[in-house]
Amino acid sequence: MTHKHVDAVIVGAGFSGLYAAHRLRDQQGLSVQGFEALSGPGGVWHRNRYPGARCDFESVYYSFSFDEDLQKEWRWTERFAAQPEILAYLEHVADRFDLRRSFQFDTRVTSAVWQEDADRWEIHTDDGTVTTARYFINAAGAFSVSKPNDFPGQDDFAGTVAHTSHWPAGGVDLRGKRVAVVGTGSTGIQVIQTIASEVGELTVFQRTPNFACPLGNRPMSDDEFAEVVADYPRLRAESRARLAGAPYPQAERPALMDTADQRQKTYDQYYDGGGFRMLTSTYYDLITNPAANETAAEYIRGRIRQRVNDPKVAELLCPTNHPYGVKRATFESGYFEAFNLPNVHLVDARSTPIERITGKGIATTDREYEFDVIILATGFDVGAAGLLQMGVVGRDSRKLADHWSDGQRAYLGMATHGFPNLFHINGPQSAAALFNNPIAIEDSVDFVGGIIARADGAGCARVEASESAETRYNELVREVAGATLFPTATTWYMGDNINGKPRTPLSLFTGAPMYRAICAEVEATGYAGFSFDQDEQPLSSLVQVDGSAVFLLAGMMNIGAKPLEECNLEETRAAIEMFQAFQAPLPSDVAITEVDFPETSDGRKLRLYRPTSAQGPLPVVLFVHGGGWIGGSLDSFNEPCATLAHNSGALVVSPDYRLAPEHPFPAAVEDTLAALRWVADNIAAHGGDPDRIAVGGESAGANLAAVAAQQSRGENGPRLTAQVLVAPVTDPVVETVSRKLFANGPVLSMEVCARMGGMYVTDPADLASPLIAPARATDLSGLPPTLVLTMGVDPLRDEGEDYARALADAGVSAEARRFEGLIHTTLSMSGAIPRAAEIQQAMATFLVPLFSPNAATTTADV
Ligand code: NAP
Repeated sequence: MTHKHVDAVIVGAGFSGLYAAHRLRDQQGLSVQGFEALSGPGGVWHRNRYPGARCDFESVYYSFSFDEDLQKEWRWTERFAAQPEILAYLEHVADRFDLRRSFQFDTRVTSAVWQEDADRWEIHTDDGTVTTARYFINAAGAFSVSKPNDFPGQDDFAGTVAHTSHWPAGGVDLRGKRVAVVGTGSTGIQVIQTIASEVGELTVFQRTPNFACPLGNRPMSDDEFAEVVADYPRLRAESRARLAGAPYPQAERPALMDTADQRQKTYDQYYDGGGFRMLTSTYYDLITNPAANETAAEYIRGRIRQRVNDPKVAELLCPTNHPYGVKRATFESGYFEAFNLPNVHLVDARSTPIERITGKGIATTDREYEFDVIILATGFDVGAAGLLQMGVVGRDSRKLADHWSDGQRAYLGMATHGFPNLFHINGPQSAAALFNNPIAIEDSVDFVGGIIARADGAGCARVEASESAETRYNELVREVAGATLFPTATTWYMGDNINGKPRTPLSLFTGAPMYRAICAEVEATGYAGFSFDQDEQPLSSLVQVDGSAVFLLAGMMNIGAKPLEECNLEETRAAIEMFQAFQAPLPSDVAITEVDFPETSDGRKLRLYRPTSAQGPLPVVLFVHGGGWIGGSLDSFNEPCATLAHNSGALVVSPDYRLAPEHPFPAAVEDTLAALRWVADNIAAHGGDPDRIAVGGESAGANLAAVAAQQSRGENGPRLTAQVLVAPVTDPVVETVSRKLFANGPVLSMEVCARMGGMYVTDPADLASPLIAPARATDLSGLPPTLVLTMGVDPLRDEGEDYARALADAGVSAEARRFEGLIHTTLSMSGAIPRAAEIQQAMATFLVPLFSPNAATTTADV
C-alpha cells in the first residue's frame, strides 16, 4: 500500500478543484494532492455530455476571473458556450496552470477519516493508496451524483437507457429513432429542443412544466468579445455585487407598483434578454410576494401559449403548481416550438405517472409506450452527495452521514462542526443556488485559502466551525428561506427531489452580495464562528441577525441601495421614509386623525390613533418616532403607532417634532414636552384619559421620551403611568460593548450614529446634559414604571439595558427585555421582519395592566 503525506487533499477537478489546487499550491505554497474519479478535468462539464448541454450564465461571466490573461486569451465563440467548449476551457486552465500534475484521475476516494492523534485526514482511494493530509478539500461539486433511477425494469429494456449525466462516451445514435425523454428541468429542456428534429419520434414525459425563458444564445463577435475584455474589471466587480453573481441590471421596483402595461413592457424587455435577467432584473419582490410572482408567471404562460400551436399542449406546458423562479430557473432555445413538430409528443407524467420501464419502453398508469432509446433527465442528488459517498468520518468517530441525518448543513457552506480541517467549496448552504458558480467558487476557495493561511500562521493544527456557528447559520439559512417562496415548491433547492432526503434549504437564498458580506464580516472579525485549536471565535453580527432581517438587508443590497454611511441628509431621510414599504398593513380597527401641533403655526401635526372598538376615556401613549433626530416622520411610524393602539387599547399620539440639522437640540426636546403638555391638557376632549398617560418611543424617539419622562417628574407634570423605550439612545457618547461589537451595524453603524448625533447636538458641551443623555441625569428616582426593549444586534443594545438597571437601582420599577437576533429598526419594518410583532406584543403586555383602572402604581408611588 502506498503512503503519501501532503498539506491538502482536494477531491474533484472541476471549477472548484482546479482553482483550489492553483490557489493552495501556487499561491500558498502548500503541497497538494487532487483526486478525480473521472478521466480528466472538467467536473460536471466532463460528465454531462448529453446533446444540447450548455451553460445558462453568459460564458464571459461563467468563467474564472482570477487571472487577467486567462480571461483575455480564452475566446468564447458563443454567448452561452456549449459543453465541449466549456470542457476545453477547463482543460486549458488545467494545462495553463500546470494543474494536471497535482491530480490523479480515474481515482475515487473510498474513505476519509480524521486521525485524532495526528490531526490529519487519512484518505483511501480505490487504487489502494493511502494519503494523509492536514486539510481535506471537498471540491466534488453539488451535481456529481445522479438521482437514483425511480423506475424498476431498466434491465428488461431491449433498447438503450441513457442518463444525461452518464452519457455514453461514443454518444447515442438517435437519428430516426423512437426516443423518450423523462424530465423537463434544465437538462431535459436542453435535450428535447436539441434532438426534436433529429429523432424519428420524440415522446416527452413531463411531470412538472417549467417557466422556461429564452436563453438568448448567439455567436459572439470579435467586437463583442473585445468590449467585454476591455471592460472586465468593472464586469467582474459588478458580478460580485449583484444578486445572481452576474452584472445584470438590478430590479428597482416591486411588481405591483407598476401598471399592467408597464409590467408588460418590463417583462417584454427581459424575457428576450437572456439568462437570469427575467428573474433578477424585472421586479425585486418576485420571490417573496405571491401576487407579484403571479404577474411574471402569467406573462410567461402567455408567451408559452403564443408559441405552442395546440392549445391543449400549450396548457400542459404552462406551469401552474409553483411560483416562477422557485424551482431553479430554466432556459430554452426553441423548446416550446419543438412541441409544434409532428413527431414530438407530450405525456403528462403527473396525471399518468410512469410505473416502470418494460422490455419495449415505458409503462405509465395509462398505457405502454414503445421506444428504442430512453433518456433519463431526472436530475441529481444535489448537495454533498458525492462527499457522503466517500465515507467521511470526523472527530470522535462521527460519520458525516449521521451528522447530516437531519439535512446537510455547513457553516457558510464551507465548514462542518466535528470535521476539523475539512472545507467544502460551495458546499451545502452556500449561496451557490443564486450565485453564478465560477465566481462563487473563486470566493469560496479564497475564503478557505485565507482561513488555512490564518491557521498555519498561528501554528494551529485544527480549525473547524464551532457548534454554535453551524447551528446558528443553519437556522439563518432556514429563516431566510422562510422569508421567500422557495419552500412553497417541490424543488431540489429544498432537497425535495430525492425520496427520504430531509427537507432543508440547500442554499442561502439571499443572493451573492449578502452572502459575500457575511463571509467578509466573518473574515474581518478573525474568522468568527471558527475554532482554532481550542480557541473559539464568537459569532459575527450578521450571522446572529434574524433571517427575515438578513433577507431584507440582502434585498437592499440586491437593488443597489446605498448604505446609510454613504447617504447625504436627503438620502438618509428618504431611506428612513422607505421603511414604510416594509411595514405590515395598518390594523383596520384604528381611526387615524390629526390635530395641529401645539404652539406652532408651521403646519406640523399630532397624529392620533384611536382603537375604534375601545370604550370610554382611553389611556394614552405619546409615542415619539425614531430617525436619529434628523429623519423620520408621522408617516414613517404610522403602522407602529396604529398597531400599538390596536394591541394596547390606548389612544396613541404621535408628534411631528422638529428635526436637526435645521432645528438642532433642544428643538426636539421642546416639541416633545409641548406635545406631552398638550396631551395632559387636551386629550380628554379627544376621548383620552389625562390620568393615564404613558410615554414611549423608538431610538432617538425613545431618547426624547426618556427625557420627557424625566422632565415631567414632580411639579412639571403630568404624572406618567409608564414609559416604554424601544432601542433607546440614552447617552450619545457612552462607550459600551455593543457599540463596539456592532460598530458596523447592520443598518445602524456608529458612523451613522455619530453623524446623526453631530447634527442634533451642535455644542459638544451639551452632551453631558440629561436633556440629551438621560442616562447622565444625577437623579433617576421618581420615574414611572419602565420597560426598555433592546435589539440583540444593535450598537444601542447595552445602553438601553444599562439605563433600565440604573433606573431599578434608583428604585424605579424598571425592566429590560432583549430581542436576540433583531436589528435596530425592527419596530418600523414589521412587514418584512415578522418578529416586530414580538416587540409590539411586549409593549402591550407591559402597558395594559398598568392602564387598568385597578392599577395603583403611578409615578408618585414608585
Ligand atoms: P432537475 O431540475 O431536478 O429536473 C429533473 C426533471 O426530472 C424534473 O422535470 C422532474 O420532475 C423530472 N423527474 C424526476 N423524477 C421523475 C419521475 N419519477 N417521473 C417523472 N419525472 C421525473 O434536474 P436537471 O434538469 O438535470 O437540472 C438540475 C440542475 O442542474 C439544474 O437545476 C441546474 O442547476 C443544473 N443544470 C444547469 C444547466 C445549465 O444550463 N447550466 C443545464 C442542466 C442542468 P419534477 O419537477 O416533477 O420533480
